[in-house]
Amino acid sequence: MHEVPLLINITLALIVAFLGGVTARRLGLPTIVGYLLAGIAIGPFTPGFVGDIDTIQQLAELGVIFLMFGVGLHFSFKDLWNVRDIAIPGALIQTAFATILGFGLSQLWGWTPLAGLVLGLAISVASTVVLLRGLMDNSLLNTSHGQAAVGWLVMEDILSVLILILMPTFAPSSVAFNWQALAITLLKSAAFIAIMFFAGTRLLPWLLEKIAHTRSRELFILAILAITLGTAMSASELFGVSLALGAFVAGAIISQSHLSHQVGADLFSFRETFSVLFFVSVGMLVNPTFLWENIGQVVSLSVLVVLGKLIIVILMGFFFPRPARTFLVVAIGLSQVGEFSFILGQGGLSLNLLDSNQYSLILAAALISITVNPFMYKLLPWLEAQLRRIPGFWKKLDANTHILEIKKEKLVDHVVIVGYGRVGKHMVDVLEKLSVPMLVIEGDAERITSLNQRGIPTLYGDASNSEVIDHAHLDRASVLVVTIPDETSAELIVTAARDLNPDLLIVARAATEEGVQMLSNRGANYTIHPELEGGLEMVHHTLLSLGFPLQEVHLYAAAVRKDHYDVQVNTEEEHRLLHEMINAMANIEVIWLRLPTGNPLVGQTLAEANLRARTGASVVAIIRNKQAMANPKSHTVFEAEDRIGFIGDKDQIEAAENLLAETEDEEKTTSS
Ligand code: AMP
Repeated sequence: MHEVPLLINITLALIVAFLGGVTARRLGLPTIVGYLLAGIAIGPFTPGFVGDIDTIQQLAELGVIFLMFGVGLHFSFKDLWNVRDIAIPGALIQTAFATILGFGLSQLWGWTPLAGLVLGLAISVASTVVLLRGLMDNSLLNTSHGQAAVGWLVMEDILSVLILILMPTFAPSSVAFNWQALAITLLKSAAFIAIMFFAGTRLLPWLLEKIAHTRSRELFILAILAITLGTAMSASELFGVSLALGAFVAGAIISQSHLSHQVGADLFSFRETFSVLFFVSVGMLVNPTFLWENIGQVVSLSVLVVLGKLIIVILMGFFFPRPARTFLVVAIGLSQVGEFSFILGQGGLSLNLLDSNQYSLILAAALISITVNPFMYKLLPWLEAQLRRIPGFWKKLDANTHILEIKKEKLVDHVVIVGYGRVGKHMVDVLEKLSVPMLVIEGDAERITSLNQRGIPTLYGDASNSEVIDHAHLDRASVLVVTIPDETSAELIVTAARDLNPDLLIVARAATEEGVQMLSNRGANYTIHPELEGGLEMVHHTLLSLGFPLQEVHLYAAAVRKDHYDVQVNTEEEHRLLHEMINAMANIEVIWLRLPTGNPLVGQTLAEANLRARTGASVVAIIRNKQAMANPKSHTVFEAEDRIGFIGDKDQIEAAENLLAETEDEEKTTSS
C-alpha cells in the first residue's frame, strides 16, 4: 500500500470536525467549539490518532486566506460610516483598554512585555463569525443595536489588519524597537495597497466580468480562486505583507464589483471547508494537560475576555449619545475572541514572540468565550433588568440618549410610529400626504435627520426605553404603530403604551407566529405579520392568474388571516375553504375567451349583449387588468381585452366563440 499522508490527514481532519460540529450543534453550542475540540482530539497532546500538524496547518493557511477574503468581501465603508460616531471611537477605546488589561494580566504572570502585548492585542479583537451568528440567531442584526455592533467590528477588523502588518516589526531579533523596519513594512504595505487599489480595482472586476460573459461557472470559480490565492501569495512573496492582508485587500476590491454576491456564493464552500480545517489546526495546538495545570490562568484570561470586555463596553455607554441597550448588545456581541486572535496568536508564535504554551492559553480563552457567548444573549433582558434596578446607574447610562424635543406645537390625537424602516416608511408617507399629525420614534440618527428635513416631528432613541416613550405623549395620541422587527423591543413598547393609555389603538408588527399571540396578549389591537402578508399576496396573484375565481381566493386569504391572527385559532376553516375552492374548480369547467378590440360586444352591458339567449352559455366571471370579477352584474360593460369566463356545453361554448371571434382570432384557455 502506498502512503497518502495528505489525503489521510484531510480526510481525518474533516471527519472529526464533522463529528465535533454535529455534537456541538446538538448541545446548542456554536459549531466552532466542535471544530476546536476535534482539533484537540487529533492533536499531539491527546492519545489516539495524531494528525500531521504541518500538513493541516498548510491547509489551514488556505482557511485564513479565504476567511480574510470573505471579511474583505463584506467589508463596507458605508456600514462603518453609518455608525461612525460610535463604532470608530468605541472600537479604538475598547481595543486599547482590552490590550492594557491583557498586558497587565500577563505581567502578573511574568511574561515578557512583547508576549504580553501580543496577548493583549489578541484578546482585544472579537470574531466576525461568532458576532454575526449571534446577532442573526437573536434577530438583532437588522436593529440599530446590531448595526452598531457590526460597524464596531468592521473597525476592529481594520485594527487587526494593521496589527498584522505591524507585528513582524516587533520580532525579538530587533532588540530595540526598530523604527526603520516599521517604516519599511508600512511603506511596502502602502505600496501594495496603492497598487491594488489603482490597478486592481480596474483589472480584477474587468477580468471577472469578462469571465462571467463566457457563461462558464467553472471558469468563473477558477478565476476567483486564482485572484484570491494569487493576490495573497504575491502580497507575501513580493511585498512581504501577510497572506491575510493580501486576501483582505483582494476581497475589498472585488466587493466593489456588482458580481461580488456571486463571488461570495461561489467561494462559500471553499471558505467553509478550509476555515473548518483552520479551526481544527488551531485546536491541534492546544495542550489540555498544560491548560489543566494552569487552570487558574485559563479562568482568569477567560473572565477577562468575557466580563472584562463586556464591562468596558457597557461603561462606554456613559460617554456616547446612544441608547443603553445598544451598548448592552455590542458588549455581549463582542465579549468573545475568535479567528483574529488565532491569526494574531499564530503570527506571534511564528515570530517567536509567544511560546506554544502562551498560545494555548489564548486558544483556551477563545474556546471558552465562544462557548459562553450564545448564553450571554439569553441573559440580555435579565442584565438590562438588573442594571435598571441600580438607582442612578441606568439613568446615567441612558442619559445620553438624545431626546430631541418635538416641535413646539402641541401634538394631540397624533399617530405615533415606531421605526422608519421598510415597514414604517409606508405609514409615514401616507400620513404625511393626508396631513395627519404624527410623531416618529427612530433609533437611526440618519433617518431622523431626513425626517426632520421633511418637517416631520421625531424622537431619536430606543423606543423600548421608557424615558423615550414617555416623551411621545401617548396619553393624548390616537394610534400607536410599532413597525420594528425586534419582537422583544416591540413587547416592551406595547406593554408600556398600554399602561400609559388604556384606550390607545395599537397596531404592532410581529416577526413570528408566536409573536402575534404575545403582542395581542400585551395589548396590541391589531398585529401584522409581514411575511404572512407577503406570502398571501403571492398566493393571491398566482391563483388569479391560474384562473381561480377572485371571490374564492379572497375567502381563502381571509380564512388564513383569521387562523393566524385570531387568537381563537381555527385552522380547520382554512383547509375547508381550500377544498371548496378546489372542488368548485374541478366540477365546473370555466372556458376563458378573450374579447378582441373591435368586437361589437365592446361597450355593451351584459344585459345588452344578452349572451345567454344568443349562445346558451352563461358568463360567470370577467378578468380585467389581471383582476377577476366573479358573477358580474347585468349593468357591467364589456371592455376590449376582457377575458370572459363562460360555462356551458360544447355547442354553447362554440356559439360563444363564434360571437367573440367576429373581428379577430379568439384565444381559448381552459381552467381546470
Ligand atoms: P425595518 O425592519 O426595515 O422596517 O426597519 C426598522 C426600523 O426601526 C429601522 O429604521 C430601525 O432603526 C428602527 N428601530 C428598530 N428598533 C427600534 C427601537 N427599539 N426604537 C426605535 N427605532 C427602532
